[in-house]
Amino acid sequence: MKKGIIVKGIGGFYYVSTFDSKIIECKLRGKFRKNNIIPMVGDHVIININDLGQGIIEDILPRKNCLIRPPVSNLDQVVIVFAIRDPNPNFQLLDRFLIQGERQKLSIVICFNKIELENNSEKKEEIKKIYTKAGYPVVFTSVKENIGIKNLRKYLEGKVTVFAGSSGVGKSSLLNMLNYQYYLKTGSISKKIGRGKHTTRHVELLPYKNHGFVVDTPGFSTLSMQNIKKEELMNYFPEFHPYIGQCKFNSCLHLKEPKCALRNALFRGEIPPSRYDNYVYFLEEIEKQNYIK
Ligand code: GDP
Ligand code: ZN
Repeated sequence: MKKGIIVKGIGGFYYVSTFDSKIIECKLRGKFRKNNIIPMVGDHVIININDLGQGIIEDILPRKNCLIRPPVSNLDQVVIVFAIRDPNPNFQLLDRFLIQGERQKLSIVICFNKIELENNSEKKEEIKKIYTKAGYPVVFTSVKENIGIKNLRKYLEGKVTVFAGSSGVGKSSLLNMLNYQYYLKTGSISKKIGRGKHTTRHVELLPYKNHGFVVDTPGFSTLSMQNIKKEELMNYFPEFHPYIGQCKFNSCLHLKEPKCALRNALFRGEIPPSRYDNYVYFLEEIEKQNYIK
């Protein structure tokens, strides 16, 4: 019996990476098929290897979480990618991504790519200030000029990471670069990450340092505020946490209520206005959704 992680599934075969970093081709025990249990890429499994080196998946361990797009389980981390320009970053969209990452209890890294296009270092500092205040690592990269990639790589060790972000920001370029560099270091099989519009895509975990893996297909689940309660939203803004519970009213949503500790912090300059504004915007969005229901 061995423990491993499913890195790929094709035509009834599952490829399991064991902790000694071997890839073993496995089939599924019949009992799973009878019960309609379908393994996912990312699943931690117990396998048995026969004399011919073929594996059988004997058990699927409980999933920590599970993403629909791309279909992967047991994620640890999301790298949210924006371009510093071309296209310009949409900070409201970034905050939506952050909320989804927080909801799924993932570690979050924010990456601004195409950094060689930006000469204004004040703009970079301002962005960095806002998001490090919220506790997120911010990395600036350029695939074109090989800037910051080493720094980004550091965050990928030992974790299962998915890349997310709008199209055109450079996610595929980053994944190809990381994969290529890993290949140069280890000689392990490389794979070109394409756009794959016209082919059926199988999601795959690409090996990384210290049993880390990177999901080869970028993506993320829904970015709507659906199923978030108004009182819950503030929890997904980490820099708000010190002020929650300090307001006059326990039920304070930090809008126009008197003696609101969060708004006082905002006026003192301790909360970035853009983050607060997006919080208010999302609250209104939740309100509208409730109204439609
Ligand atoms: P994706 O849609 O997020 O996967 O983005 P792609 O990786 O396909 O990249 C979109 C475009 O941005 C392509 O033309 C890339 O060559 C370009 N690109 C990627 N990284 C950089 C970068 O660091 N600097 C610049 N200037 N262009 C980049
Ligand atoms: Zn308040």
